[in-house]
Amino acid sequence: MAIPRHAFMLWLVFKNSLITKERMCYWGYGGDPLCRFCCGIQECIEHLYFQCSFSRRLWRNIMLSCSITDPYVEWTEVVECSVAKLKGRSLQTTLCKLCFASSVYHLWRQRNDLCHGNTPRTEECIEAQIKCEVRARILFK
Ligand SMILES: [Zn+2]
Repeated sequence: MAIPRHAFMLWLVFKNSLITKERMCYWGYGGDPLCRFCCGIQECIEHLYFQCSFSRRLWRNIMLSCSITDPYVEWTEVVECSVAKLKGRSLQTTLCKLCFASSVYHLWRQRNDLCHGNTPRTEECIEAQIKCEVRARILFK
């Protein structure tokens, strides 16, 4: 159901296999360990996706567009929710899965753009791309 590149990202995230800066530091690679979104906290999956102010704003806006007014804000809650509650093929469930997968992908892409000197997208641009991808996936699956 998910776009292949999104499914791969989700697989990496759920396996805790993303090569974050925290992990790079643990392995002994040098470099800046801080989050590029807010530049003040060490980058790990929990921070990158849910604690960072940039990600939280994007995540909340996307979840609100799915009519979820109390979005999960802790990584462990999201994993538990995804496993326990996002089963089935209802429109709401499908929408949440697609939005989640697309958000994970686009946040990682934005992070990589910032880390590698590419021109970053605005929050509004990322949000619009996520909504466009999800809309297209639902309409043309
Ligand atoms: Zn941050």
